[in-house]
Amino acid sequence: MASTTQERHSADVIGSRPDVSPLNHWLNPAADLIFPGSCCLCGAAFATGRGEAFKASLCEDCTDDLTGFDARACPRCARPLPRGSGTTASDCPNCRNKRLHFDRAIALGVYGGRLREVVLQMKRATGELVALALGQLLAQRIREDLGELPDVVAPVPTHWSRRLGRDVNCTDLLVEAVTDQLVMPAKTQVLRCRRRTQKQGTLLPTERRENVRGAYAVRPLSHLEGQTVLVIDDVMTTGATADEVAKVLRKVGVTGVLVAVVARGIGFDG
Ligand SMILES: [Zn+2]
Ligand SMILES: [Zn+2]
Repeated sequence: MASTTQERHSADVIGSRPDVSPLNHWLNPAADLIFPGSCCLCGAAFATGRGEAFKASLCEDCTDDLTGFDARACPRCARPLPRGSGTTASDCPNCRNKRLHFDRAIALGVYGGRLREVVLQMKRATGELVALALGQLLAQRIREDLGELPDVVAPVPTHWSRRLGRDVNCTDLLVEAVTDQLVMPAKTQVLRCRRRTQKQGTLLPTERRENVRGAYAVRPLSHLEGQTVLVIDDVMTTGATADEVAKVLRKVGVTGVLVAVVARGIGFDG
């Protein structure tokens, strides 16, 4: 369960590029010159310096805005539960009759309003600090919601052609923040995207499952047998992508799959 220094700095661990990581700039006192003590979303200055390096990246108001949602979400699919219902997955009209390959999902909140704005901000070329800050909040939520942390963390992979010209990928930054905060090993190379899928958001809900079918694979020699995996993505809408990724992980002997996303879309889950 616990990570070792060697694991965290192996070739497939994000932390293997410490010199270029924005996170490491934060943790380095010299980074004050680059990232002064102010909220990376609203720019509000911190009265008492950066304090705890990570938490200081967002001011209290922004943190409340992004985490102050009604916490009554389904523990399995992360969609908000109806008012007045119970709080278990069997009370969820969205997933109680579905066969899902992941065990549970966690989201900071619903994809809308301020959280949607911030997710879009995170995806821009200048969104690195926002992605790390959201990853930090997500790590806190994961810690609060899970009694026991999974063995490893893996990002939902992006097809190589979508990564062209990008220095960093926001999902990789979320993984970096989560693994740093929770002291967990990241396995950024175990999953690969086999073909370029259409963006899920452009498709009808009923088309999304077909769009991702067979699109993901686990690389050989990933040694995930008997492990539990925390899969990270930016947004979950229908859950089709997460389910497809979980399916291929199960096929290689993964015993538990948890999904954590910044935001949960609440369109109809086809
Ligand atoms: Zn702020
Ligand atoms: Zn559910």
